[in-house]
Amino acid sequence: MECLFCQIIRGDIPATVVHQTEWSLAFRDINATAPTHVLVVPKRHIDHAGVVQADDGAVLADMLLTAQAVAENDKIASTGYRLVFNVGEDSGNTVNHLHLHVVGGQPMGWPPFAS
Ligand code: 5GP
Ligand code: ZN
Repeated sequence: MECLFCQIIRGDIPATVVHQTEWSLAFRDINATAPTHVLVVPKRHIDHAGVVQADDGAVLADMLLTAQAVAENDKIASTGYRLVFNVGEDSGNTVNHLHLHVVGGQPMGWPPFAS
């Protein structure tokens, strides 16, 4: 069974795509936690940020450029936003396909944990 985000990339599962490049796809999170909550994923499957390799640098840079475009399109580039990679159980990571959360549109607290 292909992973959830690979199925979204293939178009087999619908998503609200807001931007894409040759290497990356950006779509709205199905359970948004802020006015802007977009996931930027590499079109080539990578499990998570904890297994990124040195030669993945180009795709990581492309994901950041995609996040910049998302922020510009959603008009949060000037007010600010947060970029998050969750890794592993304690972070709450649920989908095993590398994804960069782009979150913004309201002030956000820091640190991002309750206690
Ligand atoms: P994680 O907790 O793994 O860092 O983030 C996974 C994110 O994927 C969650 O914020 C969750 O709401 C989102 N998500 C899970 N399933 C789907 C889906 O089918 N479509 C979309 N657009 N987002 C999803
Ligand atoms: Zn995948």
